Amino acid sequence: MPAPGRPQQYGGGMPAGGPGPAACQICGAAPAAPVTVRGHQGMVVIMKFLKREGLFCRTCALASFRDMQAETMVLGWWGPLSLVITPFTLLANLGALSGIRRIPEPFAPGFRPPLDPGKPVFKRPAGILALIPMGLLGLTVFAFTLLVIVGAVVGPSGESSESSEGGGLSDYPNQVYPTLTVGSCARNDRTWPYEDLKPEPCGSSAAQYRVDSWTNDTCTSGDHSIGPMYSKDHDKPLCLRPLKG
Ligand SMILES: [Zn+2]
Repeated sequence: MPAPGRPQQYGGGMPAGGPGPAACQICGAAPAAPVTVRGHQGMVVIMKFLKREGLFCRTCALASFRDMQAETMVLGWWGPLSLVITPFTLLANLGALSGIRRIPEPFAPGFRPPLDPGKPVFKRPAGILALIPMGLLGLTVFAFTLLVIVGAVVGPSGESSESSEGGGLSDYPNQVYPTLTVGSCARNDRTWPYEDLKPEPCGSSAAQYRVDSWTNDTCTSGDHSIGPMYSKDHDKPLCLRPLKG
């Protein structure tokens, strides 16, 4: 008897006696473990706090970590508070990475290929570019510490109205999983395999896919498979069939 709320194993082949290893939310591969990676973006007066959280297999978790880390290393520095927040975000992600490395390699394939982990962070242009702000960070930390010591910093509640902490999370597409019902239509505001799906009336010119059910553990060739978190009962993956024209 599977524990309530526990993701089910897809593809069969697992012993029926136990709950079995959890499946990756993104690709359905097993085993998967709870993973949280964070991102931060500073934009002078506003900030964005990003979070990607869920049950991920090792491959998808690593891909999520690298993308978040590389993005934060480039976009994280551009604000007075962001300069302080970003190092902590990067360090927290390194902590998450040690957990990710403990997830065994997937042994049970999922309903679609895992995310592409790509190159390690420091082999990406973003990582190389980020060496500049990170080099400047030492000076900034020093200056900031000095300011704190002389008490020249305005109290945290002083003029914090300039930083918008609300609404930041919802901006990260993978954090929000709209419910898609079979037969309805949807659009993807991002590039596969990082979908940002939104329900869209089938008559709308923005509609790109019709939602279809997952039958016989598969989708029709040419369809996109999406995770069970989009289905009404969060129990089965769904298929997205591209609309013609
Ligand atoms: Zn996966």
